[in-house]
Amino acid sequence: MNDTRIYLDHAATTPLDPAVLDAMMPFLTERFGNASSIYAAGRDARAAVDWSRATIAKVLNCHAREIVFTSGGTESDNLAVKGVAWWSRLQGRGTHIVTTAFEHHAVLHSAAFLERQGFTVTYVRPGSSGIVSPESIERAIQTDTCLVSVMYANNEIGTIQPIPVIGEIARRHGIPFHVDAVQAGGALSLDVEALKVDLMSLSAHKFYGPKGVGLLYVRRQTPILWQQSGGAQENNHRGGTENVAGIYGMAVALSRAYQDLDRNNARIQTLRERLIDEVLERVPSSQLNGDRTSRLPNNANISFDGADGETILLNLDMEGIAASSGSACTTGSTEPSHVLQAIGLPSNRIAGSIRLTLGKDNTPEQIDEVVGLLEATIPRLRKLGARR
Ligand code: PLP
Repeated sequence: MNDTRIYLDHAATTPLDPAVLDAMMPFLTERFGNASSIYAAGRDARAAVDWSRATIAKVLNCHAREIVFTSGGTESDNLAVKGVAWWSRLQGRGTHIVTTAFEHHAVLHSAAFLERQGFTVTYVRPGSSGIVSPESIERAIQTDTCLVSVMYANNEIGTIQPIPVIGEIARRHGIPFHVDAVQAGGALSLDVEALKVDLMSLSAHKFYGPKGVGLLYVRRQTPILWQQSGGAQENNHRGGTENVAGIYGMAVALSRAYQDLDRNNARIQTLRERLIDEVLERVPSSQLNGDRTSRLPNNANISFDGADGETILLNLDMEGIAASSGSACTTGSTEPSHVLQAIGLPSNRIAGSIRLTLGKDNTPEQIDEVVGLLEATIPRLRKLGARR
């Protein structure tokens, strides 16, 4: 049973769009063929995968062959970072990587893995507003740099990075540029030409598609050591029987997200602004984390000094409200958020922070209810905390 009445954790995952589920259903039932089989059922599955690739390529403004389907954002990030780095090493070329200190762990842990194998990594720190300056990326580039990897939008504070400017710098230095666009998918333009990216990760469950399916865009001629050995699927780039229903669902979800993007974003942003304005006004000593304007339209990350983020979440949960105190992947661990640390927040502000991320089904009434609850709860929790 799910007792959540108000879901405000769309950065963790989104509900599957019923229209996407409808589109996927035939491939989970009667249209079950293996896309590699040559008879009719196999050709039917192959046609669905081909249609999906072509549909997604239109949104990304790329060639269909530049898309590699994966099991999600984590695999795509691993493939991009390890694949490009290892190819470079095997050619006797550079083994230095430039990334940022507030990437998702799929990138950070891949970089740390490579460090253990003798690669070197520079972790560029974002500014206090959660934006990485292109100049700091350029300063970090060395003669032996083989990859630059910078996320499009941060998963905790939603801040949007100057990707085209960084892309231009990487291009000028002749270095492949990877972008983790997992949080940007379904919210920001994914045009790989305008963004000047060479590799880009996406995950379907962030834009009302199914979980466990994603993609890596790889620009033609980008040097990469493919990681998944097995069959000849994905043009010999990623072995394994295709997740036909998932891939089809991702394509339908992505094209639906980009059909009415501006109108949906405007609606969500209006609700988000109402949430931030009301909380900052009605709850004393509350502060927004991350730049106010250059951020995803659905993200509010707020610190309540003197309260504990986990306790706030438990209180919200008891009222049927789902939110997060960092990225979902670190929930349950007591580690302070590496993102909030990277932007230089003091520990009390980190400890009292929560992330509220809106989605297309949230209503103004829900936002008002959450604001009212925070207004009532935070002072109570502060008093409890002070007594301890
Ligand atoms: N990158 C970012 C920025 C994310 O927010 C996430 C998931 O939260 C991932 C990568 C991992 O994606 P997936 O859940 O599809 O493995």
